[in-house]
Amino acid sequence: MRKRTWPNRKNRKCPDCGKMLTYTRKDSFDRAVGNNSVCKSCAQLDRKVTLETIEKMKQPKSKTHKKKISQGMTLWWEHRKEQEVSNHKGISKWQD
Ligand SMILES: [Zn+2]
Repeated sequence: MRKRTWPNRKNRKCPDCGKMLTYTRKDSFDRAVGNNSVCKSCAQLDRKVTLETIEKMKQPKSKTHKKKISQGMTLWWEHRKEQEVSNHKGISKWQD
């Protein structure tokens, strides 16, 4: 005997925490199985972790960026100092 009609409810376990999830629609159940989707609380936890990961990823990048800028400033100052020194040398040459 085969059941032709879709039963009112379909259950599947959350792959993350094993919580029993109840689906009232066959298409949402099929989609959840196809995506191997987790329960709502696990999905929120996932999103939180992802956001934290993004924030962590952002931090070193901005630090590197700042470092590059400061390096550029240092180079600019060193270049300026060199110019000043050569100017002084030129002046001292004139004075000698
Ligand atoms: Zn879960």
